[in-house]
Amino acid sequence: MTYIIVEVCKGTCDTSCVDVCPVDCIYPPEGYTLEDDDKKRILKDGEMLYIHPEECIDCEACVPECPVEAIFHEDNLPEEWAEYTELNVELSQTCPVITEKKEPLPGAGE
Ligand code: SF4
Repeated sequence: MTYIIVEVCKGTCDTSCVDVCPVDCIYPPEGYTLEDDDKKRILKDGEMLYIHPEECIDCEACVPECPVEAIFHEDNLPEEWAEYTELNVELSQTCPVITEKKEPLPGAGE
């Protein structure tokens, strides 16, 4: 079982979820550099965080931390976000791991 991050994360990338994940299974977009602590991250439009489904231990700790409610259990995933099940599988395996919270993207929450 796993949790899934959906499109609502795009443009926010708050990363509060990363701080509470006990197994560090949340992955940022391609181009995200952990050294970049400011707004200079190389983020293409529409990128977001992803959860690795085989590493996730189903603890739910990340869900209340997300300011835009972008994280769902796979059993409760709204139909409109169905494609994100596969996207989290695919893209979490191509991204570097992130273990600490970073500043949200510029304009997040607007
Ligand atoms: Fe990490 Fe738990 Fe969220 Fe899975 S449910 S991504 S293990 S915090």
